[in-house]
Amino acid sequence: MEKPSNEVIQKANLLVERGKVRKDVETDKRIHFTVEGESETHSVIFEKGKGEWKCDCKFSSLHQKRCSHILACISKKTKLI
Ligand SMILES: [Zn+2]
Repeated sequence: MEKPSNEVIQKANLLVERGKVRKDVETDKRIHFTVEGESETHSVIFEKGKGEWKCDCKFSSLHQKRCSHILACISKKTKLI
């Protein structure tokens, strides 16, 4: 997994600051988040067992690296704990 670029990190910070990240459901295996993006809303899932993050946006599937939505959720999760 490549390091996220500064641009992606800045986007993620903005998403958190603007309250665009919402924790939905937490089960034994997963945590579901909803992130309100610029044009669409994205679903981000954290797989607890593997420690893996997944997002349904194009950036994430095209580049195989962490998108701003995932980084925003990581930041939110860290603050929750
Ligand atoms: Zn994404």
